[in-house]
Amino acid sequence: MAAQIIDGKAIAADLRARVAGEVERVKRDHGLTPGLAVVLVGNDPASEVYVRSKHTQTQAAGMASFEHKLPADVSQDALLALIGKLNRDPAVHGILVQLPLPKGLVTEAIVNAIDPAKDVDGLHPHNAGRLAGGLSALSPCTPLGCIILSKTVHASLEGMNAVVIGRSNLVGRPLVQLLLNENATVTIAHSRSRNLPEITARADLVYAAVGRPEMVKRDWIKPGATVIDVGINRIPTAEGKTRLVGDVAFAEVSEVAGAITPVPGGVGPMTVTCLLVNTLRAACAIAGLPAPAV
Ligand code: NDP
Repeated sequence: MAAQIIDGKAIAADLRARVAGEVERVKRDHGLTPGLAVVLVGNDPASEVYVRSKHTQTQAAGMASFEHKLPADVSQDALLALIGKLNRDPAVHGILVQLPLPKGLVTEAIVNAIDPAKDVDGLHPHNAGRLAGGLSALSPCTPLGCIILSKTVHASLEGMNAVVIGRSNLVGRPLVQLLLNENATVTIAHSRSRNLPEITARADLVYAAVGRPEMVKRDWIKPGATVIDVGINRIPTAEGKTRLVGDVAFAEVSEVAGAITPVPGGVGPMTVTCLLVNTLRAACAIAGLPAPAV
């Protein structure tokens, strides 16, 4: 039987509407306008597209959007000075520095300079440490989106066997922590894992965050399992163009999985939406208000 397609676009749109509702409420009841500052260094075309989309969606949710574009040759000190200014700015509740940064800038130092209370990308060691300790934290957006998508299929992930392929700080590791917080039983696989198809074939939930086109095949998946594909890969077509595919061989895996995310239209739309969720959460926390109902 064909798998249920998890419609990330529709789920993200629904979540954005709920965020917008909560933004309206905190504006009305508390005079609080959540604000997101996005810092773009250089002119990488993909990063420019992401930043534009973040700006549009932030404004559409009723939040304030502050864009800071800096030249690729900006100095580390000048970038740190901007972050210091944004840390002190009461209108800014979330700060996102678009990665990757151009060569010559030390990403770790830049990320570490962001006030953890405004770290809506969830990459500061303070938030990563709190997440690993099972404490409340701003969590990275893509893993957060993966959990929300999974919970549209399974009301509870408790006791489920989850396999995460990929252990990056951006996706795999925080996803593992979020799954643990959901009381799933988690295995994390990576490039040195042996017998990966056997490991994934035991899973109720499979998360692929690798960056290898269509790596996960039909016989890697237990019938009925839920498959969340984080990968975004561009592959050439016969017409000399490119098309987007995930890390999962969608056509064949969807014949055996119980539910599956498409690429595009699965995890991707959730990432920016979760950035809005984190900005709203950060704004409420900074203002001393209860966590919003999103
Ligand atoms: P990284 O390159 O940082 O990490 C990739 C991970 O995959 C590593 O842990 C690596 O293992 C592991 N890996 C590589 N090859 C294999 C293999 N053959 N078998 C098993 N594991 C392997 O990537 P990211 O985590 O940043 O991103 C992963 C994918 O998700 C990319 O396609 C990226 O474009 C996409 N992405 C999508 C987002 C979205 O919004 N949808 C957001 C962020 C990323 P090791 O640690 O041993 O090297």
